[in-house]
Amino acid sequence: MELWIDYECPRCNITIQRNLRELAPEQNRQCPECNVRAVLTEEGLRGLERSLRDLPAS
Ligand SMILES: [Zn+2]
Repeated sequence: MELWIDYECPRCNITIQRNLRELAPEQNRQCPECNVRAVLTEEGLRGLERSLRDLPAS
């Protein structure tokens, strides 16, 4: 199961989706357009929460 989390560029207002598995701390969070550091949004957190809830309990 792939887990994704959404970041948002505060300058361009675009959503940057990252695979949690590829996400290293403080890495891969720059906006591809302007290189401003993307921020984690509440919506991104909610999406991750939903994904986690859908994981089979084990
Ligand atoms: Zn940007």
